[in-house]
Amino acid sequence: MKILQLQVGALGTNCYIAFNEETKHGIVVDPGADGDQIVKAINEYGLTIDAIFLTHGHSDHIMGLAEVREATKAKVYIHEADAECLTKASANLSIYMGPGTEFDAADVFFKDGDVVDAAGMEFEILTTPGHTKGSVCIKCGDVVFCGDTVFAESIGRTDLPGGSYKEIIDSIKTKILTLDEKTHLLPGHGPATNVDWEKRRNPFLQ
Ligand SMILES: [Zn+2]
Ligand SMILES: [Zn+2]
Repeated sequence: MKILQLQVGALGTNCYIAFNEETKHGIVVDPGADGDQIVKAINEYGLTIDAIFLTHGHSDHIMGLAEVREATKAKVYIHEADAECLTKASANLSIYMGPGTEFDAADVFFKDGDVVDAAGMEFEILTTPGHTKGSVCIKCGDVVFCGDTVFAESIGRTDLPGGSYKEIIDSIKTKILTLDEKTHLLPGHGPATNVDWEKRRNPFLQ
């Protein structure tokens, strides 16, 4: 699996494109903004996108969704607890960043422990509520796309609607820190990290 990382939008959200180098089939995680740039990268690599995975429904992770969905015709996945974020601007918080933006509903809802087959790869869904009710982390081999659940030496904020400090700490400790220590963590903002480093250095997890 090859992974491209694009920093998009005012909050520097990490959008990831993961693909199989032989088949050129791939998936997009969190098309947070700048949909035209994401589509450009997809086309430059000659990729067929089979699925668009959303780690949660905040506007900084979905503002490029309409363009990427239109260009790829890929199915959109989100956890049901964040599904309303696509269809209600007040739920995705875009109304606080400018004109509210709404989208067509998702095609598929993630459930805990789901294994989604896409682009010839298997993606395991780890439900990790705390940043939002429907936050998920998505594991493929030794890589986890973490959204805003865990960052390098930090964690997602829990003061927004649906947030819970107790839940995010529980989620990280039971779903992420229990993974193999070498597992790569690719957060929704900031640099990549790994399980071992966060176990030892993340001040919120000591
Ligand atoms: Zn968020
Ligand atoms: Zn974010």
